[in-house]
Amino acid sequence: MKAAVFHRPGQITLEERDIYAIADDEILVKTRAASICGTDLRIYGGGHFKIREGQSRVLGHELSGTIAKVGKLVSGWREGQRVSFTPNIGCGHCEMCRQGYNNMCPDYEAFGISLDGSFQEYMKVPAIAIRGNNIFEVPDHLSFEEAAVIEPLSCCYNAFKGLDVTPEDTVLIIGPGPIGACFVQLAKTWGAKQVIVVGRSAGRLREIEKFGADVLIDSSQVDVLAEVMRITKGRGVDVVVTAASSPELQPLSVQLLAVHGRVNFFGGLKKGTRVEIDTNLVHYRGLKLLGTTGSSNEDYFRSMRLVADGRINVRDIVSHRFELADIQQAFAFAKSGQGMKTLVVQ
Ligand SMILES: [Zn+2]
Ligand SMILES: [Zn+2]
Repeated sequence: MKAAVFHRPGQITLEERDIYAIADDEILVKTRAASICGTDLRIYGGGHFKIREGQSRVLGHELSGTIAKVGKLVSGWREGQRVSFTPNIGCGHCEMCRQGYNNMCPDYEAFGISLDGSFQEYMKVPAIAIRGNNIFEVPDHLSFEEAAVIEPLSCCYNAFKGLDVTPEDTVLIIGPGPIGACFVQLAKTWGAKQVIVVGRSAGRLREIEKFGADVLIDSSQVDVLAEVMRITKGRGVDVVVTAASSPELQPLSVQLLAVHGRVNFFGGLKKGTRVEIDTNLVHYRGLKLLGTTGSSNEDYFRSMRLVADGRINVRDIVSHRFELADIQQAFAFAKSGQGMKTLVVQ
């Protein structure tokens, strides 16, 4: 089988490998669709603390596929079943895992990070992932492509559920990429009064309009704070999500908030980054500054249901498809910030 192997920052090579021999408590999956995430691009660019120097890894953690083989001690799964995954596998017994936060487990394993992921023809699903309930059956009417993109949606869902959005709220999303497109739809599904999207790429702003954005602000053309205050008549917005990884967006988002506003700092920043925030705004306006990372199995299940019920469209978030053999081009394209979500399909 073919596998795209990450060896060191900047180097992914397409290699021929033996198809995995699975143990009795494991599952073999034929991968079908795998999307490229910002995390893959960050590992490609600078490695990951869970990948030691000299160690190689198949990246990719947003995926779907078909079960090709089931170990004889595994029950509940069968050959031919269409499946997708939550990438973060909790240890199962720590304080976080016990509360259902497998995404916050300090001893986690993860596909595409500590385990070989989806940019290969077949993937081995270890016993811990089966025990950890990281496998999900994909409803018949969802495509493999849609199923692959439920993972990033579930991370947005995890962030969004804590923002307590109501039909009276104006929601502002900074970053008109695939994550922004998920947040726009979540805000619409929650019935937000108005959804504003801020970005500096005119192409992506045009793209995101079709997901339900009511107002687009091109930050390369106008002053965002002044424009938001003009639109909201000086009031500010109720909710902000920073779906981009620039430090200056965090203090800006706090300035954009109305009284009792909430923000989720969704896009992580480079390690060691410090940001200056006027905490008097937080104090006197009663603001809530929130953060989330990844998603739990529960978030994933609920997100899958929103997609299956036709409430959220992830189909149109996929804009470009590449073959596994063209993995280099796929990564280069995803890195360029063109289009929305880039997928490797098999
Ligand atoms: Zn991801
Ligand atoms: Zn744990």
